[in-house]
Amino acid sequence: MAEHEQVHEHVRVAVIGSGFGGLGAAVRLRREGITDFVVLERAGSVGGTWRDNSYPGCACDVPSHLYSFSFAPNPEWPRTFSGQEHIRAYLEHVTDTFGLRPHLRFDSEVKRMAWDTERLRWEIETVSGSLTADVVVSATGPLSDPKVPDIPGLDSFPGKVFHSARWDHDQDLTGKRVAVIGTGASAIQIVPAVQPKAGRLTLFQRTPAWVMPRMDRAISGAERALHRALPVTTKLRRGVLWGIRELQVQAFTKHPDELGFVEQIAKRNMGAAIKDPALRAKLTPDYRIGCKRILLSSTYYPALARPNVDVVASGLCEVRGSTLVAADGTEAEADAIIFGTGFHVTDMPIAERVVGADGRTLAEAWKGGMEALRGGSAAGFPNFMTVIGPNTGLGNSSMILMIESQLNYMADYLRQLNVLGGRTALDARPAAVRNWNHRVQERMKRTVWNTGGCTSWYLDAAGRNTTVWPGTTAEFRRATRRVDLAEYEVLRPAPAPVPAPANAADANAGTNAADTSAEVSA
Ligand SMILES: Cc1cc2nc3c(=O)[nH]c(=O)nc-3n(C[C@H](O)[C@H](O)[C@H](O)COP(=O)(O)OP(=O)(O)OC[C@H]3O[C@@H](n4cnc5c(N)ncnc54)[C@H](O)[C@@H]3O)c2cc1C
Repeated sequence: MAEHEQVHEHVRVAVIGSGFGGLGAAVRLRREGITDFVVLERAGSVGGTWRDNSYPGCACDVPSHLYSFSFAPNPEWPRTFSGQEHIRAYLEHVTDTFGLRPHLRFDSEVKRMAWDTERLRWEIETVSGSLTADVVVSATGPLSDPKVPDIPGLDSFPGKVFHSARWDHDQDLTGKRVAVIGTGASAIQIVPAVQPKAGRLTLFQRTPAWVMPRMDRAISGAERALHRALPVTTKLRRGVLWGIRELQVQAFTKHPDELGFVEQIAKRNMGAAIKDPALRAKLTPDYRIGCKRILLSSTYYPALARPNVDVVASGLCEVRGSTLVAADGTEAEADAIIFGTGFHVTDMPIAERVVGADGRTLAEAWKGGMEALRGGSAAGFPNFMTVIGPNTGLGNSSMILMIESQLNYMADYLRQLNVLGGRTALDARPAAVRNWNHRVQERMKRTVWNTGGCTSWYLDAAGRNTTVWPGTTAEFRRATRRVDLAEYEVLRPAPAPVPAPANAADANAGTNAADTSAEVSA
């Protein structure tokens, strides 16, 4: 080989991301007997959400025995709702237990990938080099890229500014005037954690949240010993937690009027801590519970009732030096601003970087709203699957259930490709994608997310709900058990042009080169 030539790396599968989705995909690939794969991760360690969100108070809203992989039960969960550090440690443990380290490529952010229509494979450029793959499984996360609103004057703020998912641990907030922007799942965990040390805490609230009590407790040593000794008890516990949530789904998807009594519980949660009628009025939502994600906290309202806290019932709209100005004109002084303003969800950032068969990016294909067959396959993007793709999110249960369903689908997808043999690819038929999404959107019409009278991050810019699954997790499990080949076009390489007799030897050499998996490129 000449010195300037490099071995071009080709793999059967490239997984992007090493959160629950990417690690789950890696385990599943190994279990399917596929070892020719890499996991491309932009950060320097695994964990995704649970690596990036290290803000004080960060914890799960779903009990840990349900918010974990079914194939990797953990009898040692210390609390019913585990904190970030325990979930992160769990994912490190899964990585070691299932021998995933050799597949991991850290500091390898995917910058761009394009489908090669002739060779039927993805060409992937990462910050650490390029490679090709027959199949790409994109698990870049639904809540992975922080969203900071464009606030006029923010550049002029003399203090520290950071997003909840990029917590600046070097900042000591003791005695400081801290502004928290937002009242979503992260903000309501940050407020009670920061309030005791802050000199003054100002919460900018555009919309109040419905907050239910959090029934968190330590899992006793005896319970853990039982789970260790009798693994079936962990399964049972998980089963009960799952069943309860499955039974709640109909109220969200078909009978939002039944959620009134849940609102009463949330109102009591507030009333127990907030005695001031004016503050209570500010904090009472005017939309149906469940329309936005239901939040769980038994410490949020008590923190808001403390004398060093102000609730501004209006969004932040301007910054003038250290003065923060709300849309209603209220002003507050601050030394630090913490944005709990969520993530790019309906404008999935990886979509800008994926170029499909017709040269369009996935973002362009999704201009009118994200849509994919069974939550995974977009038409015109062959051999590409999104884990937690469009309409696979949940309002009330564990995302791990949905991830595992999509991994079943991924496994069958790869089996089907093997059965078809040779160099083949599957491209979702546009009609199949349309049918699937039509059914999803029809079911969406009655749900609390669409009818509850709120705007939320579940909805895209056009008001279409492209994020939540409008059914039970069991229904989604059934819908993703098998790949139905009738929903896909099977692509094969175009036959090589018939060579002129004099050049026959050269043409054959070219065909063979295209079929080798480790190619040599200049
Ligand atoms: C604070 C918080 C609390 C949550 N609580 C719950 C809960 O209680 N229950 C629940 O069900 N869900 C919860 N979620 C949702 C949670 O995101 C999912 O449950 C799950 O962790 C998603 O896993 P994932 O692997 O799909 O994505 P992530 O965990 O986000 O992982 C995506 C990975 O992809 C990497 N990546 C992204 N782009 C690129 C690129 N271009 N190149 C290479 N790598 C890339 C990222 O660095 C990251 O490591 C919560 C989310 C947040 C932010």
